[in-house]
Parts: sequence; structure tokens; C-alpha cells
Amino acid sequence: MAPYLDPKSVAGKIPVAEMHVPLIVVGAGSAGLAAALEAARAGVKTMLVDENPVAGALMGLDVPLHFGQRMNAAVQNKERLVERLVDSNPGLAEAFELGIEVQLGTYAWGAFLNGPTVRTLQKPMLGLADEDRSWMVSFEHLIVAAGARDLGLSFAGWEKPGVMGVAGAMALIRRYKAFDGRRLVILGSGAPALEMALAALEGGLTVAALVEIEASVRGPADLREKLARHGVPLMTRHAISQARGATEVASAVLVRLDDAGAPIPSSEVEIACDSIVTAIGLVPNVELLDVLGCRLHFRSELGGYVPVIDDAGRTTQGCVRAIGDCAGVFEAKVLHPELAVAEGRRAGLAAAAELGAVGADAATALRQAIPSSDFDSPAAIHPYWQEWLRIEIAVGGWEVHVCQCEDVSRGDLVELRPPSYLKWGSSQMRGRTLKTLAQDGPVNQDQVKRLTRAGMGPCQGRRCREQVQMLLASATGVPVDQIPLASYRAPIRPLPLSVLWPHEETEAMREHWDIWFGIPTQFTPHWEMDPVSPAVPGAKQPSTPSGK
Ligand SMILES: Cc1cc2nc3c(=O)[nH]c(=O)nc-3n(C[C@H](O)[C@H](O)[C@H](O)COP(=O)(O)OP(=O)(O)OC[C@H]3O[C@@H](n4cnc5c(N)ncnc54)[C@H](O)[C@@H]3O)c2cc1C
Repeated sequence: MAPYLDPKSVAGKIPVAEMHVPLIVVGAGSAGLAAALEAARAGVKTMLVDENPVAGALMGLDVPLHFGQRMNAAVQNKERLVERLVDSNPGLAEAFELGIEVQLGTYAWGAFLNGPTVRTLQKPMLGLADEDRSWMVSFEHLIVAAGARDLGLSFAGWEKPGVMGVAGAMALIRRYKAFDGRRLVILGSGAPALEMALAALEGGLTVAALVEIEASVRGPADLREKLARHGVPLMTRHAISQARGATEVASAVLVRLDDAGAPIPSSEVEIACDSIVTAIGLVPNVELLDVLGCRLHFRSELGGYVPVIDDAGRTTQGCVRAIGDCAGVFEAKVLHPELAVAEGRRAGLAAAAELGAVGADAATALRQAIPSSDFDSPAAIHPYWQEWLRIEIAVGGWEVHVCQCEDVSRGDLVELRPPSYLKWGSSQMRGRTLKTLAQDGPVNQDQVKRLTRAGMGPCQGRRCREQVQMLLASATGVPVDQIPLASYRAPIRPLPLSVLWPHEETEAMREHWDIWFGIPTQFTPHWEMDPVSPAVPGAKQPSTPSGK
């Protein structure tokens, strides 16, 4: 007799890889490209994946960066974007020549290893998708070179089109040449802010002001002097109080700060601009590493949660390496991409040695020959970010949204209120406070997300995670490194369901809709259901589930 298969089990549903590649590199920036080239030169069959050019529709959702809806119609032309991408990244041409399987416009939306909750995979798998379909590729080694994203900082009006992050603005100006603004106000004055201002000036744009809460500009003197020569106003000891404009940004209102960082009453100045770029910080993209179960630890000097790695980028999941900005980002790295290149080359060689393409000794010698740059150790960055947030709260108050997607204000967050659009509250909810949560240990962002919905929207917390972390730290009086990372889940990019599963559901599944999705029987344990599967010969026919 044919064995009975429980239709609700994973039997027969193990994902099948479309192809197998010894080495996959996710991210074709300086680090990923260097790793892929090094491994391919050593003879390793390598796949290089990058989501750029990002689909125009996704850019509208501010994924992967905070693009601020400031892209012009050029982003609708995919061929042009690919051309721009290859022109702005000359190493890609060499990758094609070396026979690397380069997959552009392709998202790595998830990655899967056997572990405590999965034991059925023949090989580790990466989930990939483009605009039309999704597929799986299995691998021996994975190098994650996913770069960094923008740190969000909220102020009144920050949801208006025209407010964007520095990495998003740089991508639109330099990579895609598709930036749709003329006059910028830039928040922050570290290396990314100064580089941003120079890129804008090179592109013929006007920098109306650079805004810094501290008493002096933070970035390197040579960049500062260049900007001063261009006559860019450097507004130190200022903060932003709001972005004004009927539908889009039309001006930025700045407020002067005293020496203690307190806003000076009636000191507002309004500066006309169409774009406001937050260049206060960059955060390593650790989503894939987190879903893979690589151990992460908090290193403020590297931008927050980063993977635990060895000197060739190996994470605690032995077949996964992390390199470049996703392994840690700091000012010198923004100015010196050769740092990311060196990390990439070392990881590429180490992976090639583990795959048997180079002898271990030869690989070690080659790795040691890669020049290591000598930069001052970076300093912790969170005190600076926390000071910006503290000042923005002093300037803008508690009603400013911290999570734009779900309309959660700073006040809602620290009072643990569901967003006001839900018009929902209960005595049970009101009984929960950060104080009661803190009795169970450090306040957990995931729990706060369930209670307030902050971080549950389509940007998947990319704009609010760090602010939520810092707000929780200050509201509970614990150091920011004590607030655990909110977990990531695949898919780590918003994808249409039709891309993940392009088929109509089967008759059998339709028959059981109320079991899969219906509320009345959703929680019926499988042992209480009739053993039914039309796919299984000899199985009983379905009985009519209750409520039908
Ligand atoms: C303001 C500013 C100015 C800069 N100026 C320069 C400059 O002049 N020259 C220069 O070389 N560099 C510049 N950089 C980049 C900087 O030097 C980086 O630190 C360095 O390039 C690190 O590269 P990386 O490979 O780690 O990350 P990145 O170059 O950011 O590359 C990471 C890539 O991975 C892709 N990716 C991430 N997740 C996924 C996924 N799930 N699926 C598919 N693809 C994914 C990203 O889209 C991105 O293309 C600048 C950065 C900033 C913020």
C-alpha cells in the first residue's frame, strides 16, 4: 500500500535548486566584485548577484535604499540602467570576460542552511528573484557583500517626497544619473555628507546648506575646504525642525542650538530646497546574514549589529563569509573603497582555497600579500546618532512619526500604543508599558513591533529600526547595545506573491482553503483532521469542513 502522506507536512515540498554553483557572491559593489574576480581567477565557478538595476516600482517603495521618490523617468528604462550600472562599475566587464555568471537586477530574497529548524536541505540554498519569477540556487560557499543602507532620522515632514538617504541620493546621482532634484539641504557633516555635497556640485546641483548639530564640521579637512571654496553654507550648531511643502519638500526649517544642544527659541531659518538628504549615518545590511543564523554582535564603531567574522570574512556559519560594508561600515571605508576591495580579495582567495582551487599555503601567501591599509580605529558612532535623535525630539516633540509605513509616532512607540489609525486600545494593552516589558529582560524590538506595529510595513524597518532601538534604549535607561536586534525574515525584499509562487493553487489546495487560511478551522491540529489528500492514492475523500 502506498504510504500515507500528510498533505500539511513538508513532504514533497522541499525546494529544488535550479542550478548548483560552488561559490555565490551577493552584492557587486567594490567588495563583492573583488571577491568574485579573485575566486574566478583562481578557477572557481562563481555566480555574482546584484539587485541593481533596481526595478522602478521597488525604488518607489524605497527599497533597497531611501530614494525619497526623487528619481526621474530614466529609471523606467531598464536597458539604460544596465548600461549606466556597467559604466559606473568597470570591474563588471572583467567579471563577464572571466566567465562569472553575473546576474544583475536579481534580488537575493532569502538563504537557507540546515540547522535546528531545517534538516532536509541537500545543500545550502539561496532564493533569487527578478521582476518576473523566483528560483533557488544551491551552493558550497556564499560570500555576502550586501553593503550598507541609510540611517533614518525622523523630523516633522520627513515622509514628504524629497526627503532621502545619502546612499539613495548617491545611487541616483552617480550610478543612475536619474536624480530629480536641483537644490539640496544635507543633514550631517561626516565623510558621507561631504562626499554627497561634492557629488551634487559636480552634477551641477546646488547645495543650499549642510546642517550639523555639533560646533564644527566632522568630515576630513580637505573635503571641508573644497566645500567652503564652493561657498556651501556650513550650518553648524543647527538642527532641522521640519520639512515644509504642500505635497513635496519645498523648504527646510532649521533651528539654532545653544552650546548644550538645546534649541534657541525664535531662531528658525527657512531654506528653500527640493531635497533633504539625511547623511548622518550608514548601517550594515545584515538581513541575509541574520536569516542564515550567522552570529551578530553589536559594534557601535562598525555601525551597529555586524557579523562575527575572522580575518578572511568567515562567519560563524562556516560556508558563509561577510565582507565590505555589511561586515562593518565607518567613515574611512566610505572614503577608501580599497578597504572593501582588500576584504573582498581575501575572502575570495579563502573561499577558493576551501573549494580546492588553490593550495591552502599558496592562498595564505597571496592573502598576506594583499596590502592592509593603516587607518585610525573608528570611534563608536551611536553617541553621535543618539545626540541627533535627542535634539530632534527636543525640536520636534513626540508626535513625529518614527515608523512612516505604519504611522507610529515616537510617543506611540515609547507608550506602547498601537498606531492611531487602528483606533484600538484595551485595558490589557494599557497594562503593558516599557517598564512591565523590561521586567522580563532587555526590551525586545520584536515584541515592541507586535504591540505598536513599528517596523511592520513595506520598508521592513529599514527607515526606523535604529531609531526604534535608540528610543527604546533612552526610554528604558539602558545602553543601546543592550537592545537586541529585531529579527529579519525571508523574503528580505518586498516581492509580489506572483513572483514567489506564479501558479494558481491546485484543486486540492482550493478544497482545503479554510484549513490553510480560514479562521474557524485554521488552528485545528492536523491529528484532528480527516487524513485526506486527493494526491495520495487510497486516501479518504474530504469531508465537508465546518463552516462551509
Ligand atoms: C556618500 C558615499 C560616497 C561614496 N563614494 C564612493 C566613491 O566615490 N567611490 C567608491 O568606489 N565608493 C564610494 N562609496 C561606496 C563606499 O566606498 C563603500 O564603502 C564601498 O564601496 C563598499 O562596498 P561594498 O561592496 O561593501 O558595498 P556596496 O558598494 O554598497 O555594494 C553592495 C551591493 O550589494 C547589493 N545588494 C545588497 N543586498 C542585496 C540582495 N539581497 N540581493 C542582491 N543585491 C544586494 C547592493 O544593492 C549593492 O549594489 C560611497 C559611499 C557613500 C555612502
